[in-house]
Amino acid sequence: MSAHIKILRQVLSKYSSPMTLNYPSGVNPDKKYSQIPEGLRGFIERDKEKCIGCRACYMVCSGRATKYFDVGDKRTIQVFHFRCTYCAHCEEGCPEEAIKMTKNFELTVTDRNDPKAYVNTELDMLTCKNCGKVFTPVKLEKRAFERLSDKINPRVKDVVIADFKKGEGYCMDCRRSRGVMMDAHTKKHVWLEVV
Ligand code: SF4
Ligand code: SF4
Repeated sequence: MSAHIKILRQVLSKYSSPMTLNYPSGVNPDKKYSQIPEGLRGFIERDKEKCIGCRACYMVCSGRATKYFDVGDKRTIQVFHFRCTYCAHCEEGCPEEAIKMTKNFELTVTDRNDPKAYVNTELDMLTCKNCGKVFTPVKLEKRAFERLSDKINPRVKDVVIADFKKGEGYCMDCRRSRGVMMDAHTKKHVWLEVV
């Protein structure tokens, strides 16, 4: 057999069986992610329990992949995977450490409305007890109060917390317009600071 025929046979034998694997079913699940380098940034994941709906992730999103919708008494924070640039700004900017970049980068859908293409977190909103306006997520108000309590100067802490409680459940506009009635004017705290 000439050398040429031998080579031709070898080449043809390579094509007698499929050269590719069905994906992803043909890939051993244990090896599927074994080649991923350390530090690779894939899809984001949001911890629904930790998220307070503050929208910091929306404000820093470089790919305009993050949106939010206030509908009725619900706020939805949403990321559309196919607009994400994997910049990790949302992970860095989230004050509650609710966002993590995963190593998962595989996603195939045939319809952009497929729920798999989105990360949605739905939060309950507060309704103002004066004007009835829906104004902020319940968890955000609660967290703001916790942070305030942690950082306030001990000399004025009790007064400030008492004032904060007076405004609880009121939207920002109603807090402002009813501030005098609530006896919660901020100047009072400045005065207390210098005593
Ligand atoms: S808590 Fe984090 S994930 Fe939730 S809205 Fe704020 S920045 Fe986004
Ligand atoms: S990783 Fe970047 S582009 Fe993707 S959702 Fe977060 S901020 Fe937006």
